[in-house]
Amino acid sequence: MLGNQENNSPHSRAFSQTRFAQTTLQANSRSSLFSNFLCNVQNKLCYNRTMAKTLKQTVWEAKEKKVAVGHFNISNLEALWGIFRAAQSLNVPVIIGVSEGERDFVGVKQVASLVKSIREEFDYPIYLNADHTYSFDKVKEAIDAGFDSVIVDGAKLSFEENVKMTKQCVEYARNCGREVLVEAELGYIGQSSKVLDEIPEGVMLDESSLTDPAKAKEFVELTGVDMLAPAVGNFHGMLRGGVDPKLNIERVKAISEATGIPLVLHGGSGNSEDDFKQAIANGINIVHINTEIRLAFRDAVKKALQENPDEVAPYKFLKPGMLAVQEVVANKLRFFNNL
Ligand SMILES: [Zn+2]
Repeated sequence: MLGNQENNSPHSRAFSQTRFAQTTLQANSRSSLFSNFLCNVQNKLCYNRTMAKTLKQTVWEAKEKKVAVGHFNISNLEALWGIFRAAQSLNVPVIIGVSEGERDFVGVKQVASLVKSIREEFDYPIYLNADHTYSFDKVKEAIDAGFDSVIVDGAKLSFEENVKMTKQCVEYARNCGREVLVEAELGYIGQSSKVLDEIPEGVMLDESSLTDPAKAKEFVELTGVDMLAPAVGNFHGMLRGGVDPKLNIERVKAISEATGIPLVLHGGSGNSEDDFKQAIANGINIVHINTEIRLAFRDAVKKALQENPDEVAPYKFLKPGMLAVQEVVANKLRFFNNL
C-alpha cells in the first residue's frame, strides 16, 4: 500500500514522468541520431547519385538531346561565380575551362579545389577541363590534380605525332583510377582567345584545309579519344566589331557521322546564333566561349573604375565584372540548351 501510495504520490508521478520523459528523450535522441545517420547516408547516396552523372554521361546525354554543354574559361574567382550562377539559374550543366596560361595564373590544384567546392556545396554538375594542353606532362599534372577532362592539343604536330601524344595521354587517363575524358584537336584553328583584326595566321577556311572526315575517323580509332575538336571554319578569338565567318555545317555533320563521338566547337565567340543552332543540331555537343566573357568582364570593370575612381574595395569594383560574365554566359547557355 505504502509502496502504491508512494508510487501514486504526485512526487512519484512526477518522478516517473521525468524518467519517462528522459527515456523518451534518450530514445528520441538515439532515433534522431539514427535518422541523422540515415539522412547522412541517404544524402551521401543522393549526392553520389547526382555525382554519378559524370561528364561523360552529361556529354552523351547532350548528344542524344541534340544540345550542347557550355564550356567557359576562367582565370579568376569572379568569372567562376558568374558562370556557375548563370548555369544554376537555368539548371543546366556547365564546364569550366582553364588553358595552360590560365592554370599557371590560378594554380592547377587551386582551380581544381575551387570547382570541386562548388560541385560539393551545391551538389551541382559543374566540371573542370584542362583546355588546350600541349604536352603529356601538363596533361598528367591536370589529371593528377583531379580535372574531369583534358584537351590534348597536337593540332600543330604532324598527324603521326599528334596520334602518338594523344594516345599516351589517353592511356594515362584510362589508368588513373577515375573517369577522365580526353579530347583531341585535329585541324589548326589558331591559339589566342582575343579580339582579332584578321583571321589568325595559319588558319585556312577553304574546304581542303578543314578537318577531313576520313582522317578524323582514323584518328579517333587510333587514339581512342572521347571527344574531338575539328576545324570546321571556326577559329580562336573573334573578329573586331563583326561576326566571324560562317561555320561549315556540312563538314560538322560528315565528321560527326564518320567518328560517332561528341564534337567540340572551339572559338565559339563571334559566331552567329544561326551557326550555333545548325552546328549543335549536326553533332556539336560542347561549345567553347572565352573571348566574349573576357571582353564583358574587362569592359564592366573598366566602367566601374571610371565611374568610381576612388573605389578601392576589389569586391565592389569587380562585382560588375562578375555580373557581366553571368549575363553573357546565361544568354549562351539558353541558346546551347534550347531553352
Ligand atoms: Zn579552344
